[in-house]
Amino acid sequence: MVGDVGVGGSRELWTRALVRESARVRRLLAAGQWHPGAADIEAAAAVLARLSAPLPARRSVPAPAPLLDRDRRLQRVLRTAVHHLDAGAVSAPVAALLAGVARALVPWHAHPNPPATAPAPAYGATPGPVGGVGVAPTDAGEALLPGLVALLAAVTTTTAACPPGTLPSAPVAVHWYGRYAGRLRCYGRPGPGLRTATTVACAGCGAAQGPWAVSCDWRRITLRCPCGAVTREHGLAFSEVWLLVPEV
Ligand SMILES: [Zn+2]
Repeated sequence: MVGDVGVGGSRELWTRALVRESARVRRLLAAGQWHPGAADIEAAAAVLARLSAPLPARRSVPAPAPLLDRDRRLQRVLRTAVHHLDAGAVSAPVAALLAGVARALVPWHAHPNPPATAPAPAYGATPGPVGGVGVAPTDAGEALLPGLVALLAAVTTTTAACPPGTLPSAPVAVHWYGRYAGRLRCYGRPGPGLRTATTVACAGCGAAQGPWAVSCDWRRITLRCPCGAVTREHGLAFSEVWLLVPEV
């Protein structure tokens, strides 16, 4: 069951948002209150492909390699989810779901393969090597996958039940709120192999440390500074804020 994605050895992971948004997506689909559009289906199919891809066959290599392959799969799922979340093309239910996936799998942000270039965002704790093998909660991450496969498959096939002539529709977004004390960094990719990082400053007082009161409707992120000013033009991608804000 999709609602059970948080069950099964995933206590080490931040799964609250994933469990909540999985249940919401399932409920909306079951009630016929949402007909995902092409962008939603494309994003769900892309993540589903990462989830369903078989692991490389490496039976002849030393023991750590299969574990690394399992971690690589989780990392690919995370990166694909973040890519489609930050592209901003999906509807609010899918954005919230992808954000839940990203938060749950954030231990694989830099594991086993760190981002290729610096500066690069740093989220969560990177598992340290013990005996040459990274200590990522691999079992806990994989325990989330069957529920996600079922849910994303439902999103990608739901148009089959959509009455002819029905336009894609999405429910009103559920806003989320959080607080973050520290710098928010906007990461850019001006060219192949190039990355930039810019620190966001308050539009009113220029301060960059917050603590920021964050609100987001999966269309726009709003930052409120302690000085009272609200900053909306900051260039931050969803993941650049979402993955920093603590689980609530
Ligand atoms: Zn300010």
